[in-house]
Amino acid sequence: MNIHEHQAKEILREYGAPVSRGIVVFSLNEIRDKISKLNKKSFVLKAQIHAGGRGKAGGVKLVKNVENLEEEAKKMMGKILITHQTGPEGKQVKRLYIEEASDISKEFYLSCLVDRESSKIAFISSTEGGMDIEKIATEDPKKIITNKLELSAFGPNEEEIEKIIKVFNFNKQQKKTAKKLVSSMYKIMIEKDANLIEINPLIITQQQELICLDAKMNFDDNAIFRRPEILKLRDLNEEDPTEIEASKYDLAYIKLNGSIGCMVNGAGLAMATMDIIKLYGKEPANFLDVGGGATKEKVTAAFKLILADKNVKGILINIFGGIMRCDVLAQGVVEAAQQVNLSVPLVVRLAGTNFKEGKEILDKSNLKILSASDLNDAAKKIVGAID
Ligand code: ADP
Ligand code: MG
Repeated sequence: MNIHEHQAKEILREYGAPVSRGIVVFSLNEIRDKISKLNKKSFVLKAQIHAGGRGKAGGVKLVKNVENLEEEAKKMMGKILITHQTGPEGKQVKRLYIEEASDISKEFYLSCLVDRESSKIAFISSTEGGMDIEKIATEDPKKIITNKLELSAFGPNEEEIEKIIKVFNFNKQQKKTAKKLVSSMYKIMIEKDANLIEINPLIITQQQELICLDAKMNFDDNAIFRRPEILKLRDLNEEDPTEIEASKYDLAYIKLNGSIGCMVNGAGLAMATMDIIKLYGKEPANFLDVGGGATKEKVTAAFKLILADKNVKGILINIFGGIMRCDVLAQGVVEAAQQVNLSVPLVVRLAGTNFKEGKEILDKSNLKILSASDLNDAAKKIVGAID
């Protein structure tokens, strides 16, 4: 789960990290009241969307006074912002963060993330902040320094922290703040089950102060249940509506851009099904794993989700019954098909537990179903049916 910059900064502040004062507004008429909480005369207006690259796309504006701020806020609120991270459809700006402006002297990059390969927390530091870190990683990888830390109840030790911040060449006071920042980031990773904390840029001001000027955080969805204070920060506006619906039924669903809807049990089988669709020249419309012990209701919801996607021209159901029973699947499919008007070809391949019962339910249902003997046959049939 991602959160907004202003929320990430609030967490950083809570953990003693240096962030500027700022206010968040959801409508323009909140600005006048709230702005008095800020000291400075010039502000930075920042569109709050779950994507970076806002600076280059007009989502970060320096403003010199309150009048100018209101003018720019009016233009920014409600706008569809297209950055290199939003995709071509962009994201609508529904909240603004107004922050005290800093006089930037230098911009750095500092992040930490879970490194699954080594089961460690990796800190990444670079003097090339403010920019697209992926670009630096490919063009000038030497500028990116990675330090992997063993998990420890005491957090990172002095030596580890020194290594992380060495490249920045900070003065004594800045070092002290930076050390605290690294420890805070580590603590947030552990105490909030974060996957990623990215400060880009971390800056030194002309007054030699160290500040986290941008913050991005991502949290482990599988641990959210034990972090209610993080779940509260979820912004459903930023998520795909079909994926929200899927999460209500605990379905692993990811919308993709192709034309063949897939319903499969098991992530591995789902991947194989998507691969074979591609092999026969079409693209999957989604990844969908209904899981092991799916109920009829869950299958019905899954089937409706697939059909709600306007790009879907055909559906391939590929179930290997284990704990999941083929008859339960068949009941769910029949029920959903009765509730919505099924107007696209449907290919079903069932194998395993209660396969016969499942097939019987489908046969009796009057639904137009093409049955398939194996995965290869299923993919061929669905691709053939929509061509
Ligand atoms: P994004 O990463 O989405 O482009 P950032 O928050 O990193 O957004 O802002 C882009 C750039 O805008 C920063 O690199 C920095 O130069 C400038 N900026 C952002 N916030 C402030 C601020 N409070 N004061 C001065 N400049 C800022
Ligand atoms: Mg940034």
